[in-house]
Amino acid sequence: RLVEDEMLLNEETTRWEDVGGLEATKQLLTEAAVLPMLIPGFFTGVRTPWRGVLLFGPPGTGKTLLARAVAAQARAAFFSVSPSSLLSKFVGESEKVAKAVYGCARARAPAVVFFDEIDALASRRGAASEHEASRRLKTELLTQIDGITTGASVLTLATSNRPWDLDEAMRRRLERRIYVPPPDATGREAMLKIHTTGLKLAADVDLAELADRLEGYSGADVQLVCRDAAMAPICVEIKILRRVRAESSHRPPRHRRDACSMAWR
Ligand code: ATP
Repeated sequence: RLVEDEMLLNEETTRWEDVGGLEATKQLLTEAAVLPMLIPGFFTGVRTPWRGVLLFGPPGTGKTLLARAVAAQARAAFFSVSPSSLLSKFVGESEKVAKAVYGCARARAPAVVFFDEIDALASRRGAASEHEASRRLKTELLTQIDGITTGASVLTLATSNRPWDLDEAMRRRLERRIYVPPPDATGREAMLKIHTTGLKLAADVDLAELADRLEGYSGADVQLVCRDAAMAPICVEIKILRRVRAESSHRPPRHRRDACSMAWR
């Protein structure tokens, strides 16, 4: 109940097509995470599925989006957990919630237990009580990941922007590590197409040329550019409305206008 009430369990509908570019990464994830959940019978013996997969790379490159797409493609239940919010929201109880999440995941297998920014657990900063809570949560997570038996089809998927800060014991459990790179021009063009779907573009907009000009932009940046552009016509309309309203407020009050019109008659 707690896990479902806190919205940690989601029905994922993200498709591979919603993730622009990153074709090699999608392929690696299909092999490492999706297929073992879809056809577990093929992944036995030496081909034992990975218990944990770490997606690492710069911020905003689509790691969370990829994790959601993995769950949807594998038709798996998706439990989304943010270690930092777990620690702040369930003070002193976070390890119990983590245990409950894995219990639910096992019951609903195939399932993906997703930890966004897992490096928050490796942080050495904060108050002494925070350290203790974080240490207990980490210990519980290691126990839970170790407890996943072969064929249980529960995958721990985590993301990190700072994999070098990750706790060594945790890093060992995340056996398969996949780098999510910043997008190249082809990837940026694919993202522009995704984020402008449903928008009416001006005739002179060339997405390939725009993608070239967005060198150094992450997927999240590209999405912001599209959002900003989509807002622009609304801002123009608001300006026009404001001007109309300002002009109408300068008109003389009704009784004076009536007097004027009487005079004109
Ligand atoms: P962080 O490391 O900061 O958590 P992240 O790598 O997990 O970032 P996401 O949260 O997946 O990045 O991406 C943020 C937003 O940027 C997404 O909701 C999406 O709109 C857009 N985005 C990022 N990458 C892509 C992509 N490859 N294709 C389409 N949209 C993308």
